[in-house]
Amino acid sequence: MKRYCCEKFANQLELSREHSLNIRVLKFEPKDLIDTEKRYRFFITPGYTLADRSVPVYNIAYCPFCGKDLFKFYKDDAFVNEDDSSFLYP
Ligand SMILES: [Zn+2]
Repeated sequence: MKRYCCEKFANQLELSREHSLNIRVLKFEPKDLIDTEKRYRFFITPGYTLADRSVPVYNIAYCPFCGKDLFKFYKDDAFVNEDDSSFLYP
């Protein structure tokens, strides 16, 4: 069973990408990162479809509900809930 920092964060991860608002967890390839130690990135999104581009997002490092350091807490592919990063780019 997956262990989350808090129930509210878990609920936000369970939402679909189209649901406004939601949290997405993406895993990036080292070649796409400056800080390659941190492969996972955490975003608050307004909801989007896979056809959307340049979606305005908040890139977050701490849980907005309990304050946990997301980079320290979530280090498992099991939490990745988006594998298409194209919504971030033009
Ligand atoms: Zn939390």
